[in-house]
Amino acid sequence: MIRLPDAQRLHVGDIRITVLSDGPLPLGFEHLVGIDEDEYARLLRLRHAHPATWRSGLNAFVIETGGRTILVDAGVAGGMGPETGRVPENLQAAGFTPDDIDTVFVTHMHRDHTGGLMERDAPRFAKATLHVHEADKTHFAENEFARSVLASYPHETFTTETDIAPGLRALPLPGHTPGHSGLGIQDGAATMILWTDIVHIAPVQLANPEVGTTFDVDVDEARQTRKRLLDRVAADGTPILGSHVPFPGAGVVERADEGFRLAPLYYTHDR
Ligand SMILES: [Zn+2]
Repeated sequence: MIRLPDAQRLHVGDIRITVLSDGPLPLGFEHLVGIDEDEYARLLRLRHAHPATWRSGLNAFVIETGGRTILVDAGVAGGMGPETGRVPENLQAAGFTPDDIDTVFVTHMHRDHTGGLMERDAPRFAKATLHVHEADKTHFAENEFARSVLASYPHETFTTETDIAPGLRALPLPGHTPGHSGLGIQDGAATMILWTDIVHIAPVQLANPEVGTTFDVDVDEARQTRKRLLDRVAADGTPILGSHVPFPGAGVVERADEGFRLAPLYYTHDR
């Protein structure tokens, strides 16, 4: 059977974004806090998903802006089951070589976002400078893999909203990890927010944003950040991109009878 590439392109003004799936991620009820199993199943079904077949997504992104080519995260390199680790082949299918990447923006230092940055003991993106929030560099200082990533790449850290490239601004969204950061993407009037790990099981956590995850370093802070951002994007209609919003990870948040839900971001063909 031929497997089609999981890569899709979208645009924010003249900024070109290519979403790359790393494959389906086996996240479910056991990874959530603040909800019981019946309610978990009810909310999945409410949003047209099924508890027996539900798998979450894991997305990385290439953003081309102002002559720069920025990779946002790199997948888990097969570290979360045999179906993961597709970022390198999807990157190639989308027409990029590893050496095309001049910048890597690391949203946070969890392995599902950084695993693909290394190829055995070497940096996969040999020409890239890495950007990461200072608080994640500190938090993961004793983590062997995070240390190897930071030792392998020239890197810069930030602590507040910081311009990374033309039209790309790092947006600290603390809680999931201390330095967890998304990106504000803007070209003229066109905007988008890459919100990274604001949700891990989108149908459930959009319907009930109080629900946290076992991976949240600070569940309460992550909850506050999630609710604040959901309120904002539901009010102003800014489209979102999520690392764990099932591929292609894009949508527009609306208020719903219960919490929020994602409306489609309609596909714009390449120009
Ligand atoms: Zn994640």
